[in-house]
Amino acid sequence: MGPSSLVAETVWKEIESTHSVTDDQISIMHFLFGKNFERATRIVDQRGVKRIVGEPSGRWIFQVVGESRKKEEYFCFAEHYCACYSFFYDIVNRGEQLCCKHQLAARLAASVGACVEVKVSDEQLALLLSKL
Ligand SMILES: [Zn+2]
Repeated sequence: MGPSSLVAETVWKEIESTHSVTDDQISIMHFLFGKNFERATRIVDQRGVKRIVGEPSGRWIFQVVGESRKKEEYFCFAEHYCACYSFFYDIVNRGEQLCCKHQLAARLAASVGACVEVKVSDEQLALLLSKL
């Protein structure tokens, strides 16, 4: 992990422990993630983050709505993976960003308790994951 991701981790931990975001934290996140953090907060404000929970295992994945007019949704693990184009192009290939706006939105929504919870069976969850 580079220094900026360590800073980001520290701020995330603070947000997760208080379930709210202060102006100072917003400034730091904006410095680290730029426009992507603004986009992520817009997605969260629109209740655009679903947490799909498989039962009975309790395993889950995020589904995050995009910002284009088509409103496509992307499956996403907040820390390691997103199905969007930017994740592969900007992050995996070029290493230019820490994570995409969908991952930020997922983590932010989870931290402040703003996810829309959707319960499915483990079989349905496995089927969703098999399409990634
Ligand atoms: Zn993404």
